[in-house]
Amino acid sequence: MRWEQYRRSVRRRLRSVDRRLREARMFARAMASPGHPILAHIVPIRRCNLACTYCNEFDAVSAPVPLPEMLRRVDLLAALGTTIITISGGEPMLHPDLDEIIRRIRGRGALATLITNGYLLTAERILRLNRAGLDYLQISIDNVTPDETSKKSLKVLDRKLELLAEYAEFSVTVNSVLGSPVRNPHDAGTIARRARALGLTSTVGILHDGDGQLRPLAPDHLAIYRDLLEPDQKMFAFAQYDRFQRNIAQGLPNRWHCRAGGRFLYICEDGLVHYCSQQRGRPGIPLARYTRADLEREAAVEKSCAPFCTVSCVQQTAMLDSFRENPRQVLVEMIAARRERNPQYRPPVLLGALTWMFLDSPVKRTLSRLALRLLRARP
Ligand code: SF4
Ligand code: SF4
Repeated sequence: MRWEQYRRSVRRRLRSVDRRLREARMFARAMASPGHPILAHIVPIRRCNLACTYCNEFDAVSAPVPLPEMLRRVDLLAALGTTIITISGGEPMLHPDLDEIIRRIRGRGALATLITNGYLLTAERILRLNRAGLDYLQISIDNVTPDETSKKSLKVLDRKLELLAEYAEFSVTVNSVLGSPVRNPHDAGTIARRARALGLTSTVGILHDGDGQLRPLAPDHLAIYRDLLEPDQKMFAFAQYDRFQRNIAQGLPNRWHCRAGGRFLYICEDGLVHYCSQQRGRPGIPLARYTRADLEREAAVEKSCAPFCTVSCVQQTAMLDSFRENPRQVLVEMIAARRERNPQYRPPVLLGALTWMFLDSPVKRTLSRLALRLLRARP
């Protein structure tokens, strides 16, 4: 038993190193070129085994998209140069061929991510996800005990978190939420503490309305949100620019350019490209006919929904582009914001390296110019 635990821990470390190297490649590609999708969400099944009352992304009847069609869509995304493919839903674990979809994503060189409500996780299922090559899993927990809004509860899912902590070789993030449908905002803290105690990553999100738009947080939710906001140490999350989070929590607009349709794609169960889960129908072009010209045109479109948008994964891709366009300013603002919250804040390794390269001294600035040239980004 001890031997098996030791082997699992070694495998977990090796996979973590491999994942970080592939993340570094994703980052370098995002810096080198604005012309490919950084992240795509793909829906293999619209059906869900739950029915959260705030959700507009599921139904109770849809059949799974056939495997050959899903594999074709993964290939099409890879041909566009997509670096991260996230499988969402509905509940993607209802798809009978999920492992094959993950294998294809990895086989085409992209990072493979899964968003699930966790209900169907078992030890055996987690081991299969390991074997398929899953890189990240995100599980969202809405409350401590089930209520009429959501059954995604710590009470039900705690055992699943324990199984993930024990068996998963992929990175696991537990997302708790705040916002008006959440009855007890203190639940978010309980969920985050439990996730961290199990060695899992925790994040907190804000529930949006049916158009992906912000509902300002009530004062008690806001106080808890501030407490829970912690700089995430993962590399891709370094792009989780603090200004966005602070404004969202206070109900203030953000000034940013949403590049959905270019840097982020949402592929629905019918194989159409949409800006995001909350802006479906735009542009609504079949993925099979989506070209580089479409990527460029849609990325450039000004989206009127941007100022009060809460779709954080699209904001994260936009922050990578901000960094590509102006690395020094982004680093200075990001670190200052984190030190404001925590004077002892020490940047994670990647952020530390970037800071060393871009900020500190004239010699290092010369190195930074060299690095930017190697990455083909603008100095
Ligand atoms: S589990 Fe997820 S997809 Fe299913 S209803 Fe709830 S929020 Fe929607
Ligand atoms: S700003 Fe972009 S990500 Fe946000 S809701 Fe609009 S299209 Fe979607």
